[in-house]
Amino acid sequence: MTIYNFSAGPAVLPKAVLEKAQSELLDYKGSGMSVMELSHRSSWFEAIIQDAEQLLRELMAIPDHYQVLFLQGGASLQFTMVPMNLAQGKKALYVNTGSWSKKAISGAKALGVEVEVIASSEDKQFTYIPELPETIDQEAAYVHITTNNTIEGTAFAKIPDCGAVPIVADMSSNILANDYKVEDFGLIYAGAQKNIGPAGLTVVIVREDLLGQTEIAAPMLDYKLQADNHSLYNTPPTFAIYIAKLVFEWVKEQGGVAGITEQDRVKAGRLYQAIEESGLFQSPVEKDSRSLTNVPFITGDAELDKQFNAEALAAGFENLKGHRSVGGMRASLYNAFPIEGVDALIAFMKKFEQDNGGK
Ligand SMILES: *Cc1c(COP(=O)(O)O)cnc(C)c1O
Repeated sequence: MTIYNFSAGPAVLPKAVLEKAQSELLDYKGSGMSVMELSHRSSWFEAIIQDAEQLLRELMAIPDHYQVLFLQGGASLQFTMVPMNLAQGKKALYVNTGSWSKKAISGAKALGVEVEVIASSEDKQFTYIPELPETIDQEAAYVHITTNNTIEGTAFAKIPDCGAVPIVADMSSNILANDYKVEDFGLIYAGAQKNIGPAGLTVVIVREDLLGQTEIAAPMLDYKLQADNHSLYNTPPTFAIYIAKLVFEWVKEQGGVAGITEQDRVKAGRLYQAIEESGLFQSPVEKDSRSLTNVPFITGDAELDKQFNAEALAAGFENLKGHRSVGGMRASLYNAFPIEGVDALIAFMKKFEQDNGGK
């Protein structure tokens, strides 16, 4: 049976990347050692981390005045690091678009930072992306947005204009899956396990002028120190960085971010269309706010959703169950998810609909 992995994260990786890693697992380029066994100070690993950074810079067209950091602690640690490094003595503005935004807000509040939620879609269970107010307090430290809401299935189609206030973005679930411009942000962060590689690595892209504004007592939490040490202040997640490098090479082979987002549009487009045409399945998300990478859908009947999830799982569709907080189903269609899996899911949904009294 073919298994299709719709997991929201850790998620599917390109098969070609796993095969390459397998072929190099025991002997990395004639070193006689596995990447996992290499010193992070060795020239072998130095080349890996430098290539990874270079490739990411190329893929995202990251300008020279931005630093690229390879950190640990997940996107969740950024909920603390961002306000700790950027909001000292200033107000921080947040857009509340779902569960992850809420955690980001809690992270800032826990540090005693003054937080203002300037827009929210909580009034409609986070089924849309809210408009930001016309005027943004120009004294604020930053505006925090979650570009893609992994659980709710919404995404910012356009990045708002906040004037001189830097936008900080949690891009965990749609980095490398959209044509956002890095210049529109002051800082971007992403846990790797959705679109980049294995868990354990967090990518941070930060504009240089935002570094070193405050003394940070904990060295590991200081962007400036991490940047000054090229992410090698301590042992970085070496194997995860290596796999990320292979993924970046693979993305480049797919025609870069432009090529791969085109594929993502086709994949998500097919599934949304099938949902639109169905008499059984619906999308809970407003049309202009829909995510390309996480596609939730429901039947409107919790029992039927449960039956669908059980039958889908038995047929090889792994991790389709919606997040426990929202229920229903969710197909995560990250860059590495194959289009055949989308077609197979659509066929399965049609069959399910017929078998359950649909058209
Ligand atoms: C998965 C996810 C997180 C949490 O990431 P961790 O690496 O588990 O901390 C945060 N934000 C978004 C948008 C996510 O998708």
